[in-house]
Amino acid sequence: MFAVSNNTIAAIATPYGTGGIGIVRLSGDDSIDVAEKLFEPADKSRRLKMLSGYSGAYGRVFDKNGDIDEAVVFVYKAPKSYTGENVVEINCHGGVYVVSRVLRACLDCGASPAQPGEFTKRAFLNGKLNLTQAEAVMDIISAMGLQSSKAALSARDGVLSKKIDSIAGRLVALSSHLAAWIDYPEEDVEELESTALKQGLIEIIGDLNALLATYDNGRMLREGIDTVIAGRPNVGKSTLMNLLSGYNRSIVTNIAGTTRDIIEETVKLDDIVLRLADTAGLRETDDRVESIGVELASKRLAAASLVLAVFDSSDILNGRDIRLIDEIADRPCVAVINKADLPRQIDIDYIKSKINNVVEISANDADSIRPLSEAIKQAVKISNIDASAPIIANERQRSCAAAAAAALNDAVEALSNSATLDAVNVCIDYALDYLFSLTGQKASEAVIDEVFSRFCVGK
Ligand code: GDP
Repeated sequence: MFAVSNNTIAAIATPYGTGGIGIVRLSGDDSIDVAEKLFEPADKSRRLKMLSGYSGAYGRVFDKNGDIDEAVVFVYKAPKSYTGENVVEINCHGGVYVVSRVLRACLDCGASPAQPGEFTKRAFLNGKLNLTQAEAVMDIISAMGLQSSKAALSARDGVLSKKIDSIAGRLVALSSHLAAWIDYPEEDVEELESTALKQGLIEIIGDLNALLATYDNGRMLREGIDTVIAGRPNVGKSTLMNLLSGYNRSIVTNIAGTTRDIIEETVKLDDIVLRLADTAGLRETDDRVESIGVELASKRLAAASLVLAVFDSSDILNGRDIRLIDEIADRPCVAVINKADLPRQIDIDYIKSKINNVVEISANDADSIRPLSEAIKQAVKISNIDASAPIIANERQRSCAAAAAAALNDAVEALSNSATLDAVNVCIDYALDYLFSLTGQKASEAVIDEVFSRFCVGK
């Protein structure tokens, strides 16, 4: 483990803006001493130094120029605090000036400014949480919906790291058995049959692959579903986009081809988040500006995780519609039959024969899009995600788990090719290194710095 520096750090822990309360947080050996220098309790018997952990006092914060604000100050004593160090939280009124001046006072009294994520990094270095739990803290903060916040909280509780620990434990058992076998070939070490070893490794690879399969769902929950609204001009794509994003974002006209470039927006539909791209009408065109839009649109369409294919209920299907249906039928998609308020001309049965999830809406009427969210969940198969199960939450975790699985595949191959047992054990050791790197037990300093640099200051 790395040396833990206990110098006292300070930062504003609440958003920089006006609010009911603003909190300046201190952590480190001297945080109570620092806070003592700028806080006068109303009740003299409640000086911060006299308080036990998990308790607070009401009084005034001041600097060399006089009183700053009234405040309630909480004290947490090492190791029973978020960071595992002495922590003080100064709760004052949430004005930008007041909170900044309290922070300045802390720095003047000997604290240093905290780096992004430094509080959580100290919690990690002090063994309060492992790396996946620290990452989960960030995911809780950025969660945009029920499912993503639930999944992040489960990860904070350690469901992913426990799963990885159990996989690593099984590998360590196999590896130590193997090591004994290698070291004492003549002794009466119970022989682990090569087939049994292989079987054990294959089971672990299966577990890792199952875990890896959670990555896409986890990402969709957290970052939103990368979605394209497609359809020929004038079917109502912009109107739908505007309805979903809640305001008049693109100019809606009834002249074909008015949406020239791709507009991206993150919208929430019930408890799912969509990263929406409204694309220019998919049609060949001589207009240079529009052809750039069309080119971007087809690239985006090819890469999207979800296609909302919009059709005009009041018109018959044309070749363009049929081509779109054929292009997306095998992918996660929802056919949105728009303009359901107008007399129906479209052959809806044809669409239903090709596409599983079909909804009829009127993009002019907000109430009519209710069934859309369920259809989307069905299409991307997130309707029954278990948010309390272990989920691979980010690219770092995914690459560690994938590398561990690849190393174990190498081990199995080595066994099949009758390579030396040493070679097999080396592969298992690699896999263990990747798993320990995932949970942070053996992560390099660079990896740890990278993880925490993505946090905000004050977290
Ligand atoms: P886009 O080219 O696919 O983006 O289509 P627009 O969103 O610009 O819509 C084309 C025209 O259809 C506009 O005049 C819209 O007001 C109209 N429109 C869109 N949705 C509906 C709907 O549900 N019902 C009716 N009656 N008209 C609609």
